[in-house]
Formats: sequence, C-alpha cells, structure tokens
Amino acid sequence: MAEKRDYYEVLGLQKGASEDEIKKAFKTMARKYHPDLHPDDKEAAEKFKEVNEAYEVLSDSQKRARYDQFGHAGVDPNYGGGAGAGAGGFGGFGGFSDVSDIFESFFGGFGGGSRSTASSANAPRRGGDVNSNVTIDFMEACKGVKKKMRITHMVKCDQCNGTGADANTTTSTCTECHGRGSVQVNQRTPFGTVSSTRVCSRCGGKGKIVTNPCSKCRGSGRCRTTSDIELKIPAGIDNGQVLRVGGQGDAGLNGGPSGDLNVSVNVRPHDLFTRRGVDIYCEIPITYAQAVLGDKVTVPTIKGKVEYDIPEGTQSGTKFRLRGEGVKYLGRESYGDQYVTVVVEVPRKLTRQQKELLQKFDDSLEEKNQAKRQSFFEKLKRRFEQQ
Ligand SMILES: [Zn+2]
Ligand SMILES: [Zn+2]
Repeated sequence: MAEKRDYYEVLGLQKGASEDEIKKAFKTMARKYHPDLHPDDKEAAEKFKEVNEAYEVLSDSQKRARYDQFGHAGVDPNYGGGAGAGAGGFGGFGGFSDVSDIFESFFGGFGGGSRSTASSANAPRRGGDVNSNVTIDFMEACKGVKKKMRITHMVKCDQCNGTGADANTTTSTCTECHGRGSVQVNQRTPFGTVSSTRVCSRCGGKGKIVTNPCSKCRGSGRCRTTSDIELKIPAGIDNGQVLRVGGQGDAGLNGGPSGDLNVSVNVRPHDLFTRRGVDIYCEIPITYAQAVLGDKVTVPTIKGKVEYDIPEGTQSGTKFRLRGEGVKYLGRESYGDQYVTVVVEVPRKLTRQQKELLQKFDDSLEEKNQAKRQSFFEKLKRRFEQQ
C-alpha cells in the first residue's frame, strides 16, 4: 500500500497550525492545483484530491483530534498501514484492501511470523460504523439544517471506564495465548499451508482474563446505548446521499478510535419545485393575455422570489433559466440554476359576453399574427393537392 503523506505536510503546515492558517493554506494549495488550471494533468488532479482530503480532516476539529492521535488510521477506516489501529490486519483473511496485502500476509507468515501481529495484542482497534437515516424537507436540504436524532451505538462502559474489569478484580494471563493476545493458525491456501496469526478468541486479543468482569458491560468494556445527537446537514444535500459523522459510531477497543456514523438522508418532495442535481425546475401558469402582451411575473425560487419579464409573444412551454438560483453545490460556494417553464392556461367557463369579445378578437387576427398556424395549413393544403 502506498504510503500516505502527512496531512499537515500536504498543506505545508506545522502540526500546531491554527484554524486560520489551515484555511489559508488550503485556499492557496487548492488554487495552485485546481483542475481548471491544469486540464488533463493527472499529477495535479492527484495533488488537488490530496489537498482536499487533508483539509476535510484538518478543518474538522473532531477528525483533526483523531488524526493527531492515531494518524491516518484514526480518520480512514480503510487505511491499513500505520500503527495497526485500522480494521485490517485482524481476523485471518478478511479486510484486505488489495492484492499486494494478501501476498504480503501469505508470505509474511512463512518462517515463523516475521510480520507478527502478536504485538497488536493490546493495540487499539477502531470501533464499527453505525448506520442510520433521517428524513428532511426539500427546503431544509437546500438550505442546510440541524436535526436532532437518536442513535444506538456502543459506548465506553462508564462503570469500568472501558477496562471490562470490576473495581475489585484481579486479572490473570490468558492460558490460550499465554498473554500474547494472538494465536498461530495453520491454513491451507493455493500456495500451500501457511501459518498466520489470529486474534485470540478467548481473551479477545487482550492477553489477559478478567476474573471479576464488570457487571454492567459483562467484561466487554462497552455498552449498547442510545444517544441524542445533533446532526448538521449541509446545504445542498440530495435525496439518497449519505452523511458521515466521524467518531459517532461504536466506541473503539483498547483505546482505539470510535467508528463513524453513516446517516442516509431522505428528502421529501416539494409541491412547487423539483430538483435534478443542483438545478431546480418549476412551472408557472400565465394567462393567454400575459403570453401575448408580455408581462412582469413573480417567480418563486428556493431563496424567495424574483421578478421576471415575460416577453411579448411567449409561447406556452417556453423554458427560461434563472442563473444561480438553484441549489448550492455541497461544500462549495457556487450554485446551480433554476429552469422555469411557462405554461399558458386556457380560460374556461367564459360568459357569453367574454366569448363574443374573444370571437371578435379572433376574427380580427391576420395570418401574419400566427406564423406556425399559417405554415401548418399551407403544408396541409399541399398534401391534399398531391393526392
Ligand atoms: Zn488469549
Ligand atoms: Zn464495564
């Protein structure tokens, strides 16, 4: 696995950098590597991605704290390198992220554990992710919203402070693994029999057995509980997107970082607007006279309303664009557009007098007033003449 660069290094910063310094450095670097300035430049694209990733972590105080403590493994569950805090590296053949890892593991196992995981007996292990979902209104998705929600997750047991042991307990060395926390297992593979190490199932990798386990968590060090959290949903979120909240999943083991909370967001439809990506679509009904004469109409937008000049002679079904009146791009200060379709409403239930006026008006029309109709009848006439 390629070594990941230190996030501070990526942004050209020292570890104790202030929030302002981080923001400034990000702006400079993002501008430097922006894909618009380097079209088709793969290296710049990679750099741009790296800068964004670094900023995503360092600009979030919770993620930054975890990164400072545990490095990449603290903020990226897929990151297998580093101090062994990642989810990989345990449990036989699960959790490999690429082929080279598998080979390393197979061949690393030869010759008696040259890449022994025994040292990971008490290594911190990241807690699992927790999945949940939330339903919000259309406008809340456009503008961003804070939502209180209740989640169920594993937290550190407050009675034993996560040790799993009763206050008056003694601990003894695990007889299964002799305190190493891992056991050697032989496994048949396409490459022959390979011995590898696995977390000891008796002590769960701790290397010790607690004689008087904590009564609340029954020795696991964690308890399942419900927590009320406030979820900050950013402006621009769309139906079906998943928000990842760092550190709100299950508590880690042996002081490892907590997993994340993944919240999938459902957005209720709106009665005036529909949305495709960051663009908003709506229809506005206008009268026949407005279409013929032109008029100033009020168009609702997600931010309020705008005035729009419908030009004289607008046809039903004409679509116009309101630039920048759409939804905010997630995590960016730019906006989509709004498309408005004008629909001419044909009046119904006219009085006799109204009908007469309309008939008079219709009789007064000349061919040049209705070009489409004129050309249609010309085509029709030619067709009949051919037959
Ligand atoms: Zn053991
Ligand atoms: Zn406990």
